[in-house]
Amino acid sequence: MQNIHQIKQDMCDIGRRIYNRQFAAANDGNITVRVGENEVLCTPTLHCKGFLKPDDISLVDMNGKQLSGRKKRSSEALLHLEIYRQREDIKSVVHCHPPHATAFAIAREPIPQCILPEVEVFLGDVPITKYETPGGQSFADTIIPFVKKTNVMILANHGTVSYGETVEQAYWWTEILDSYCRMLMLARQLGHVAYLSEGKSRELLDLKDKWGYKDPRNTEEFKNCDICANDIFRDSWADAGVERRAFEPPPAIKTSPAASPATANGIDEETLVKLITNEVMRQMAAKG
Ligand SMILES: [Zn+2]
Repeated sequence: MQNIHQIKQDMCDIGRRIYNRQFAAANDGNITVRVGENEVLCTPTLHCKGFLKPDDISLVDMNGKQLSGRKKRSSEALLHLEIYRQREDIKSVVHCHPPHATAFAIAREPIPQCILPEVEVFLGDVPITKYETPGGQSFADTIIPFVKKTNVMILANHGTVSYGETVEQAYWWTEILDSYCRMLMLARQLGHVAYLSEGKSRELLDLKDKWGYKDPRNTEEFKNCDICANDIFRDSWADAGVERRAFEPPPAIKTSPAASPATANGIDEETLVKLITNEVMRQMAAKG
């Protein structure tokens, strides 16, 4: 039997943490918890997440219709409901506008990987969705291509959304992501970003596998992929206006002598073609 009052209390606690870490200005952000097949607890609209009381939280159905509660549900509830529809295992969703991750959302800069061990294990590659006006179903639909492959997403020119089995777990991914984005920006200001080798990154993926965390990079599909140079969501970048501008892809360093023929020189064919194209374009631009 679920203790609904305790869940509402937990939502208020996470609201306070979101507000105190400046992840949501004024009345921004929203939190939901799925408590039944067709029942979701939802934070209210036009209410600061730092000062929520259990009584402020409303109950909505899976279509977003308010079932009970004295305050109107958040206007961004449809985004949360779409995640529950796509992922039966998910019980809570947290959406907010953490400044460092949102800076990447505005710059449309993909999150570089193979840098921080914790991030490799807990987050993996992070997608950036295509921009859509917030609130409606077409905004909610922007998460569909990625929702099964990750537990945290960056929403272009908007913020983040993360989800898990409890409200605290749903919030963790946001906090880890924003903290990572902040470190990336600081390191870049210092002038150098050192990448882990692909071999060392694969060791982290092995640990992740051992601990029971799923990662698409650990599947057959990406077995022969240079996981550091190639983000698994890169096929979505062009459509969403996402491009590496601030962070170069890491140099392909192989630590394993048993590299496959396609990567024998420490670089895969796709990366090589890209590098050559970029160089030709650069020289043509210089001449023109
Ligand atoms: Zn928002």
